[in-house]
Amino acid sequence: MIRFDNFTKIYDQKSRPALQSVSLEVNRSEFVFLVGASGSGKSTFIRLVLKEESASLGAVHVAGRNVADIAGWRVPRLRRGIGVVFQDFRLLPNKTAFANVAFAMQVTGKSRAVIRETVPDVLRIVGLEGKGNRMPHELSGGEQQRVGIARAIVNKPAILLADEPTGNLDPTTSMGIMNILEHINRNGTTVVMATHDNTIVNSLRKRVVELRHGRVVRDEAQGIYGGDIRAAAG
Ligand code: ADP
Ligand code: MG
Repeated sequence: MIRFDNFTKIYDQKSRPALQSVSLEVNRSEFVFLVGASGSGKSTFIRLVLKEESASLGAVHVAGRNVADIAGWRVPRLRRGIGVVFQDFRLLPNKTAFANVAFAMQVTGKSRAVIRETVPDVLRIVGLEGKGNRMPHELSGGEQQRVGIARAIVNKPAILLADEPTGNLDPTTSMGIMNILEHINRNGTTVVMATHDNTIVNSLRKRVVELRHGRVVRDEAQGIYGGDIRAAAG
């Protein structure tokens, strides 16, 4: 579903590469934690899958296509097939929860009837039944992130990328978010979640890919993420 082939990303010739010689395959319907300290390259990885950045060396394939070969005018179509969840939620502040989710459908040209039917279903999946009329500031952080997830999945993407989605949430709220991501994954969506929350990683026992200074230093099925990564990295 996502394949990095001997991939290197250099932002700046004077610093070390953000990603270096990364070869990695994420299969359809997999759930992968991308772990590593701040600056290890997690967000860069996500931006590359979305073609928000380009390769310096090597290639990234998404759903069998080399993203470097996707023409600019087709990039929106690539991105429509990928849901993205952010640490800071990124909701439209002056739109209700319903309208935030609906907006993601409107931009793909869905009819009002389809939107009216679909949005309540998706809000129910993320546990926000009956809260569609709330403004973001009337929702807790965890609820705002649920809206963010609803928006990311409403167009039924094959891939869901989540960049530290629990980074602003307390542990209990975070586990609620993880239950939703697991549920989405069980229904066949490939999920890649960047995090440095070892409690979450250790309680879910999914595949763990660990980055350190832009290199993959570990790739384990049912992995854990223990100890203090900064101490380990030196
Ligand atoms: P993480 O998400 O794991 O914290 P990032 O992917 O954001 O890591 O960053 C990896 C490295 O790339 C860091 O050294 C960071 O400073 C650098 N970097 C990230 N984005 C840019 C950019 N747009 N321009 C230059 N350097 C960048
Ligand atoms: Mg990051």
